[in-house]
Amino acid sequence: MQFYEQNWLPYGYESPEEEANYKEYGREILSKFWDIHSADFHMPIALERSFYVDIEGIKLRGFIDRVDKLESGGLSIIDYKTNKELFTTEYLDNDLQLTIYQLAAEQMWQLPVERLTLYHLRSNTACGCPPRDPSRLEQARQLVLDVAESISQGKFPATENQYCPCDFPEHCPYYRHQYMEIIPQPARQELLPGIAAVDAVERYASLQAQIKELQTQLNEAKETIIRYCQSEELNRVYSSEYEATYKLIERTGFNEDEVKALLEPEGLWEKVLGFDQSRLRQLLTDKETASDIKKRLESLRHIISTYPQLSLKKRAEEEE
Ligand code: SF4
Repeated sequence: MQFYEQNWLPYGYESPEEEANYKEYGREILSKFWDIHSADFHMPIALERSFYVDIEGIKLRGFIDRVDKLESGGLSIIDYKTNKELFTTEYLDNDLQLTIYQLAAEQMWQLPVERLTLYHLRSNTACGCPPRDPSRLEQARQLVLDVAESISQGKFPATENQYCPCDFPEHCPYYRHQYMEIIPQPARQELLPGIAAVDAVERYASLQAQIKELQTQLNEAKETIIRYCQSEELNRVYSSEYEATYKLIERTGFNEDEVKALLEPEGLWEKVLGFDQSRLRQLLTDKETASDIKKRLESLRHIISTYPQLSLKKRAEEEE
């Protein structure tokens, strides 16, 4: 408790009252934690341990909250979480952070990880699961390599989420348009496609009401916005009243030769003969398909085509 008081950081709270409430909540959590765990306390082998995991030359850096050595000789990894909701089995099974911790711990200590735990502090509940099997570890390695490859190619598209806008809206293709200076100058009109795009958003909104008769104009406006977004690498264009969001929708599919090479030796090729993508998807959800085949099949999924999508809504109102 003395350590807690001395190391409390009073920043980021909206009011002194909110800070006091959180501080008191922290005291409660720690007291309960002590009540539950002090009797069987044992020294962990690592706390807040920094690690580098090397995946074919790609170095990932992170920190593992806690690692214990079990009596069996294996390792137990615990990550302490302040999430509101308790973790479900599905969440635990799919948590990439735990998978990467397992990769790092096994590489660092050369000991098998036998238990992975997310410790839910608010309810003082240890939510544990067995370690990942070799194929899951391999999938995570591959994911890291794929992400690293995309980053090195400059491919890391903005992904809008519940926390948007973040601290960098002026760099984000969804928000940057609001920060761009567009000065109307007739002589340079054709050099300022931003103005045309802003007009196009307005036009796009009014044409939607008459969509049947005015389909041609609507598509024209849509194309203008999309072209502008593509040329300016924007995902959203704002006019005074509307915002048009542009996304390149990716359709994934499978390469016939790759799938055949995988399924034929397993006697499953006939099930997708004629290479019907929908039947292949059925095979992926079929309970009788071995999970290993499903995972390997998933790893063959590629983007086979893309198409642009443009949605429109009234600014500050949820209106399509
Ligand atoms: S505002 Fe843009 S850059 Fe920031 S989190 Fe959202 S999508 Fe990503």
